[in-house]
Amino acid sequence: MRLIDLHCDTIGKLSGPLHRGTLAENPYSVDLARLQKEDSLLQCFSTFFHTGYIPGPVRESAAFCMANRRIDVFERQLAACRGRMVHVRSFSDLERCAREDRVGALLTLEDGVPIGKSLERLRHFYDRGIRLVTLTWNYENAIGFPNSGRTRIMNSGLKPFGFEAVEEMERLGILVDVSHLSDGGFWDVARVCKKPFIASHSNARAVTNHPRNLTDEMIRAVAEKGGVIGLNFCPKFLEEGSSVSRISDMLRHVLHIYRTGGEDVLAVGTDFDGIRGKLQIAGTQDMRLLSDALRKHRMPQRALDKMWGGNALRVLRETLP
Ligand SMILES: [Zn+2]
Repeated sequence: MRLIDLHCDTIGKLSGPLHRGTLAENPYSVDLARLQKEDSLLQCFSTFFHTGYIPGPVRESAAFCMANRRIDVFERQLAACRGRMVHVRSFSDLERCAREDRVGALLTLEDGVPIGKSLERLRHFYDRGIRLVTLTWNYENAIGFPNSGRTRIMNSGLKPFGFEAVEEMERLGILVDVSHLSDGGFWDVARVCKKPFIASHSNARAVTNHPRNLTDEMIRAVAEKGGVIGLNFCPKFLEEGSSVSRISDMLRHVLHIYRTGGEDVLAVGTDFDGIRGKLQIAGTQDMRLLSDALRKHRMPQRALDKMWGGNALRVLRETLP
């Protein structure tokens, strides 16, 4: 099974004034050369940037401009790949990648701030090719509240615009992503979503007690709706307070999620180029270390294939236009 990675921040790396390399080849964790070599089918590219420092009154309009600039960077970089990487806007685009042995790229918006309180802007991002929206990052926005150690914030649900936005995303064919969201927001999404929703880059809270991770009830709720949970390689989500991203910790999370939600909920969301620390899997080139380790732990090949791409492919078939 060819790999589908539901989250990376490489476009952010390639947007800096001092960035090195291109999407085709760079010194960061993800590039086309390695995606091709490791037989990836699809890489999701986030258009994330921090908005916390932008003053409140202009935050949404500034973020709208910045998100558009990130998409410009993605388009320029993709054009330089000369057809070897395909911007996936529909499921048939993805099928074409599978048929023609090309790598797909799916554009995601991490944090709904650029959408503001406007379905018009949401449709604008759809027209620019965004097919997955992570509803919040670690701040409150017009959609809802973030994960937090503070109970009041953590229990807060979606805002009225959040419900409207989620409904419109499902109508358009944009994947709804609850990674980073508050627990209250998670349960609102689980209640109102008619299609599968995902946690693109989150782990298990029963293994590592971090608010970015999902409780067992949440893992089961994602599974019940037919969604997936992408394994995140961030050291502190894998092991409390850790600065090392270890394969042994990844196994504990995968096996827990597998036991709790079943084989159909497993997926990969590395968070490459968005995480810091010492990484045992430093980039796409090392992904086989994880599949080898899972095989050694007697994960059945069928479950491994589903985690590697089969499950994400199923969700994309059910949600993309
Ligand atoms: Zn993230």
